[in-house]
Amino acid sequence: MSLRTWLIEISYLVASVLFILGLRGMSRPESARRGMHMAEIGMLLAIVGTLVQREIISYEWIIGGLLLGSTIGLAMGLWVPMTAMPQRTALSHAFGAFAASLVGISAYYLYGAKLGGFKTGALGFEVLLGSLTTTGSLLAFAKLQGLVRGTPIVYKGQNVFNLALLAVTVFCFLAVLFYPGVQPFFYLMLVLAFAFGILLVLPIGAADMPVVIALLNSYAGLASAATGMVIGNNVLVIAGTLDGGSGFILSIVMCRAMNRSIRNVLFGAFGGVTDTSAAGTDGQMREVTFDDVAVQLAYARQAVFVPGYGMATAQAQHALRELGETLENRGVTVKYAIHPVAGRMPGHMNVLLAEANVPYSQLYELEHINPEFPSTDVAVVVGANDVVNPDARDNPKSIIAGMPILEVDRAKSVVVVKRGQGKGFSGLVNPLFFKPNCGMLYGDAKDSLSQLLQAVREA
Ligand code: NAP
Repeated sequence: MSLRTWLIEISYLVASVLFILGLRGMSRPESARRGMHMAEIGMLLAIVGTLVQREIISYEWIIGGLLLGSTIGLAMGLWVPMTAMPQRTALSHAFGAFAASLVGISAYYLYGAKLGGFKTGALGFEVLLGSLTTTGSLLAFAKLQGLVRGTPIVYKGQNVFNLALLAVTVFCFLAVLFYPGVQPFFYLMLVLAFAFGILLVLPIGAADMPVVIALLNSYAGLASAATGMVIGNNVLVIAGTLDGGSGFILSIVMCRAMNRSIRNVLFGAFGGVTDTSAAGTDGQMREVTFDDVAVQLAYARQAVFVPGYGMATAQAQHALRELGETLENRGVTVKYAIHPVAGRMPGHMNVLLAEANVPYSQLYELEHINPEFPSTDVAVVVGANDVVNPDARDNPKSIIAGMPILEVDRAKSVVVVKRGQGKGFSGLVNPLFFKPNCGMLYGDAKDSLSQLLQAVREA
């Protein structure tokens, strides 16, 4: 083995170890940043290792691609707001999957049947998954960005039609495997896979899009692993497999947090309900003033903040941390309750609160904070709705029945900071807002928290 080959293999090995350590680091908020840096260094090593291989035909194209890709990546990193992260992720998956698909198409175009059975199978798999992930992710992006209607687009016999289309696509894949020289099978599979990606995502509502994106992420990872097999690149096989596995686990974790099955997410057309009524929502909501809430908070023994999507849109995390600190200085015990699917992407609240320097020790997961609500004096819900909807616990007929919730309604007093009568992502009316121990503090989360902070200082 020449020194160059040896160095390349070592760089791949170190990169793979860094990917695994990076993923492990990202599983806890304290080590997430370190994990991210490890994965970045791993990726740099993998790229450098690949670039010094002798097989590179032309560096001009690679430099062009590097400049173009880095410019797009930098612009997206700088200008895409945190609230648009899910659609940004969908777009990245579309690019990654399209790249895998293009590698497969070019390999088939250049070598076709000469690749042999195993590589042709891997190539077919790569093109199949890569192509459906490309169009599926683009449609997911369009739905989340509001370019296409976010509610499920359904028609009679949709699931049967989709399954039939999938069956024909898989048939073409098997035909490519056994008769790699018959080109029409390959190109028909390609067209059908592109179409299937769109048809798969059409009936899924925007509410379920983060789960779908995690699932498509896992397909893109598997497509990359197959690419690695076709072009004989070990680090791509390892990185793709890690991506595929972690994306799949993430989608399962998200489904569990919503008490839904993957099957229900993919075929349930959730989010298209028109009946959003719920028991206990006939009365009046009670509005409270900043001074009322400030007095409650200033003299509380324990206050629990429950952030949700509204805190993210209002970018109110810094104001929330300041309010928390001020209360702590007055002797109030302050805790933050984190629901696994609060916001619009996994870990959304953890990321925002970490950005605002809220100490990790004050963040509590659902199962740890729920037993504390009965002894909590004030629970302050900041722009959250579905994740505190007691119907999920109390009403078996609700479309979110069984979804674990933060049981703020069991606190002695609840204050909900939101702009008006807007519904949550599920479109349901929340009976919490009508309960006698609940007060509504209307206004944008950031403005309201700043005013509340002022009122607490004066209390
Ligand atoms: P939510 O149910 O979507 O409710 C957000 C609330 O924030 C709205 O009722 C809205 O009411 C309020 N709001 C919006 N902008 C605001 C602002 N500037 N200031 C103050 N309030 C504002 O949010 P959530 O409780 O966080 O629940 C997340 C939902 O997303 C769940 O249904 C979950 O299943 C779904 N989901 C999440 C993920 C994930 O990974 N996180 C994945 C899939 C699905 P107003 O309009 O009246 O202000």
